[in-house]
Amino acid sequence: MAFYISTYHDICLQFTYYSRVFLFFPPFSYFLAYFTLYFSINFDFNMGFSLKASWNYKCPKCRHGDIFVSPMDIKNPLNMPERCEKCGQRTEPELGFYYGAMMVSYGISAWLYLGLVLILVFYFKWTVNKAMVLLIFLAVITYLPLLRYSRSLWLHFNVRHSAEEELKQKQLSLESKKEVKENNWKHSHK
Ligand SMILES: [Zn+2]
Repeated sequence: MAFYISTYHDICLQFTYYSRVFLFFPPFSYFLAYFTLYFSINFDFNMGFSLKASWNYKCPKCRHGDIFVSPMDIKNPLNMPERCEKCGQRTEPELGFYYGAMMVSYGISAWLYLGLVLILVFYFKWTVNKAMVLLIFLAVITYLPLLRYSRSLWLHFNVRHSAEEELKQKQLSLESKKEVKENNWKHSHK
C-alpha cells in the first residue's frame, strides 16, 4: 500500500514538475495563447484557404505547382524552387518570410502534444514518464514533416488563391494529358 501511495505521490510530483516546465512556464503559455488568439482573429477566409492543397504542398495561388523540390533531399529538406513552376508565384515572398512558419510549427506541435499527453495521462492512466518517452519519439518522427507542413501552411495563410489561375492550370494539365493520350493512340496504331 505504501508503495502505491509513494508511486502515486511520485507521479503527481513528476507531473507538477513537467507541467510547470511545459505548460506553465511563462513563455510557453504566453506564446500559445498569443498564437491561438492571433490566428483566430487574423484568419482570413477570403484568402481561399485549402487544407488539401497545403497538405499536398501545392502552390497556394494555382494549387497545381509543387512548393518543395521532390524527391526530398535529406540534407536539404526545406529546398524550395524560387518560383512555382506553373504560375510563377514566388515561394519566398520576402526575405525572412519563413520566420513566421516557426510560430505555426510551434503552435501545432504544442497543442497536439499537450492534448496527447493529457489524454494519455488522465484518460488512459499512463505514467508521465511513459507519455514523455512516446512524446519524444513522436517529436523525432514528425520533425521534418512538421517543418515542411508549417512552411506550407504559412505560405497558404499569406498568399491569396486565384481561381482564374487554378482553372487555367487545370485546363493546361487536361490538354497535356489529352496530348499524351493521342500520342499513345497514334503510337499504338502505327
Ligand atoms: Zn502556382
